Amino acid sequence: SYLPYYAAGKVIAGFGRGSKALGCPTANLPEEVIEALPAEFETGIYYGWASLEKSIYKMVMSIGWNPFYKNEKKSMEVHLLHEFENDFYGKELKVLVLGYVRPELNFASVDELITAIHSDIDVAAKSLDEPLMAKYKEDSFLSS
Ligand code: ADP
Ligand code: MG
Repeated sequence: SYLPYYAAGKVIAGFGRGSKALGCPTANLPEEVIEALPAEFETGIYYGWASLEKSIYKMVMSIGWNPFYKNEKKSMEVHLLHEFENDFYGKELKVLVLGYVRPELNFASVDELITAIHSDIDVAAKSLDEPLMAKYKEDSFLSS
């Protein structure tokens, strides 16, 4: 398998698909990071650890087809399980991707989407507390 997977890049502006409005801002990683993904990397929702400005956070990440590019390119969007005072566009974000939650789904309503996001965050939070996954928080990639 391609997990665990290590990636890093400067946070770029996304295409305003209303993540913040849904209560789930997603920090978008740049194109070169997405292009470096192994071809077999499935689209869908993942969890793992992220590091930003010397702190380490739980994260849930979506890899999906990007409608802005007519679904010919993937996007990689990371939600950190933390409340930030400010945005962090342009900052270096590292991700250590550990587990798969579910495939990309189409939701019938915004309510269903929000319910799914909450459930994904819950799965990520609990999975990362398991000893096998928790130990990756000490990975030198995140602290270096
Ligand atoms: P965009 O379309 O530009 O990605 P979003 O609505 O998805 O806009 O918001 C993403 C931005 O919000 C991130 O780039 C980051 O600067 C900021 N942000 C604030 N809190 C978080 C968080 N907990 N997780 C991810 N990004 C966050
Ligand atoms: Mg975003």
